[in-house]
Amino acid sequence: MRRVGILGGTFNPPHIGHLIMASEVREQLNLDEVRLMPTAIPPHKQLSDTATPCQRLEMTERAVKGNNYLSSCDEEVHFGGVSFTFDTMQRLLAKEPDTEFYFIIGGDMVDSLHTWHKIDELIKLVRFVGVHRPGTLRKTDYQIQYIDTPLIDVSSTLLRNKYASGKTTVYLVPDSVDRYIRQEGLYGTC
Ligand code: ATP
Repeated sequence: MRRVGILGGTFNPPHIGHLIMASEVREQLNLDEVRLMPTAIPPHKQLSDTATPCQRLEMTERAVKGNNYLSSCDEEVHFGGVSFTFDTMQRLLAKEPDTEFYFIIGGDMVDSLHTWHKIDELIKLVRFVGVHRPGTLRKTDYQIQYIDTPLIDVSSTLLRNKYASGKTTVYLVPDSVDRYIRQEGLYGTC
């Protein structure tokens, strides 16, 4: 059995918080790989001042480039529509029946798990892994394996605000992502 972590998110834009959590979970659980998977339309989030799904996928690809254990997954962006994790994981399992999937979430997602589409079925399809996030991590009745990773108090919201106000973003996003954002004029950089 291959053991594969999936870090789902909007990645609007991807940042060091995503990369560090993916890399730490990969190592601590001895997974074969972790894939960063941008949503098409997220069910729970209003995207404002956003990049397109294809641009978010492109940034995610750039963010993981060069790391043999991390990759990006285009399943949701290419499938399109509202991205429900249960449906996505069913499709991935149908394509890769010999894989055990670990779905990684940050602490801010934990207390809303009960609102996820078909969560009671999803929890049987994949193993949930929780990563602490500064100022968050509440309780849930769902079975989650928590992993201790360095706490990184960075969010995509913080980055969008920094880009919009012309503040430095150095060290908070990979250089290749930063270049793409400026080249495309995303988040008010043009
Ligand atoms: P936004 O600020 O736009 O809401 P975000 O920074 O939370 O975005 P997402 O792409 O929505 O980024 O996050 C994808 C997943 O990564 C979620 O499970 C989220 O909880 C987790 N995550 C993001 N940043 C961190 C962080 N700094 N520490 C721990 N988990 C994180």
